[in-house]
This record gives sequence, structure tokens and C-alpha cells, in this order.
Amino acid sequence: MLQINNLHVKLEEEDKQILKGVDLTVEAGKVHAIMGPNGSGKSTLSYVLSGREGYEVTDGSVSLEGEDVLELEPEERAALGIFLAFQYPIEIPGVGNMTFLRTALNAQRKAKGQEEMSAADFLKLIREKAKDLKIDADMLKRPVNVGFSGGEKKRNEILQMAVLEPKMCILDETDSGLDVDAMKLVADGVNALRSEGRGFLVITHYQRLLDHIVPDVVHIMADGRIVKTGGPELALEVEKNGYGDILAEVA
Ligand code: ADP
Ligand code: MG
Ligand code: MG
Repeated sequence: MLQINNLHVKLEEEDKQILKGVDLTVEAGKVHAIMGPNGSGKSTLSYVLSGREGYEVTDGSVSLEGEDVLELEPEERAALGIFLAFQYPIEIPGVGNMTFLRTALNAQRKAKGQEEMSAADFLKLIREKAKDLKIDADMLKRPVNVGFSGGEKKRNEILQMAVLEPKMCILDETDSGLDVDAMKLVADGVNALRSEGRGFLVITHYQRLLDHIVPDVVHIMADGRIVKTGGPELALEVEKNGYGDILAEVA
């Protein structure tokens, strides 16, 4: 599904190399987790995959189902099926949540050569998905994320994901700032979307999210590289001993 080879990324503004040769393959149907100390480059990787500006790829490649991702504009990546749930979801004053979702969904359908979804069908779809995530009608009518609590914002990210049904879902610290109940809602939402044709990259600093979204593969990122890969037990090792042991071992 997603193939990243030798990815090197620096900041556009300053001469600072952040990713220093990331290699990663996420197979369809699998959930890969990336853990790592603060500042190791996890968010940068997710931004670069989604096409955010400010970063320059100096070497390496990224492909989704064989298509060169780095050549594409952010909206083309979205149409191709890459979705990033942000660590800090942005507020969009003046744009209703429902309008935003419907516009995003129809843009994607258009890119795929499909017809727009009717207002009635969309309403049915959104009500059903929102119910699962305990998102009430009021939250659907309000401007995107404006005045939402931290937990509501994260749930709203998962709602976007559930509506858009991307091929490759990237979640950047979706658990940060969530209480246990909100985290479970988010995890249930993600688990409901796990399917054969969809890959997940779940970025988290802490292990606890991975109790609820059990990954197939766990990677440890440090100083712009993936330094260790293993199964779910690797996350438990981090929980128990911190990153120190692993970093010392690979140094
Ligand atoms: P993580 O998500 O693992 O905590 P980040 O990808 O946010 O790490 O950051 C990796 C490194 O790159 C950090 O040292 C961070 O300070 C630096 N960095 C990332 N983006 C910028 C930026 N726009 N300007 C300056 N430094 C940045
Ligand atoms: Mg961080
Ligand atoms: Mg981060």
C-alpha cells in the first residue's frame, strides 16, 4: 500500500535535516504504529506524506499503490486516498462541519469520476457515522472544530476519516490530550475502519492507545530514522523501560 524508501527531508527555511533515511512499508490491511521520543520526526513524516509545505525532500521516494506521492499536490494525495488526522486539528471559522465534510467527500468522488452524493444520502451517512462517535447534531452544525473540546476535535477527525474512507490513514498523536473514554471512542472508530484494503499508520508517543488499537507492527523512530521494528511487544517494552534502552542498544 504505502512504500517509503530512504526518505530524507529538511526544512525549507533553514538548513536543518529532520528525516535522515526513513524506510517503511505498510501493507494493505495492516496497522503499523510509530513510536518515538519527542522531536524524533514523527509529525514531520506525517506532514510530508500529506504534502504540507515548508519541507523539502532531498532524497528518497514515497509511493501509494505504486503511484509516486511526492509528485502530487496535497488535494491530489487526498483524492488518491491519503488521510492525515492531525495532532492539533485546525479550526475553520465560518465553515459548517457538515458543509466541510460534504464538500470534501464530493471533491473526492469527483476526482474518482463518481457522481456527487445527494444531500439526503449524505445526511443519512453522516448521522449514522456521527452516532457511533457520539458526535451530536449540534457539533455537526457548528463551524469546523471551533469551540470544540480536545476530545471533540479528535472525534471529529475520526468522523472525517469514517466519511472519506481513505486507503491510507495516518493518525498523528490522536490520543494526546484525551481522557480514557474519549480515547476508547477514537480507538473504536479506528478499529471499525480496519479492513483488508486499508492501511494505517498510527503515530503515538505513549503505548496506551495501542492497548485499544492493537498494531500488527511497531516501529521506533529516533533522530529521523526508524531504528527498531517489532510486534506489539515492542510497545510494551517502551511502556515499561522508556526509550533509553532501545536507543542505547541501537546507538
Ligand atoms: P515529533 O513529532 O517526533 O515530536 P517533529 O517531527 O515534530 O517530531 O520534529 C522533529 C524535529 O524537527 C524537532 O527537532 C523539531 O523541533 C524540528 N522541526 C520540525 N518542524 C520544524 C519547523 N517548522 N521549524 C523548526 N524546527 C522544526
Ligand atoms: Mg512532538
Ligand atoms: Mg509530533
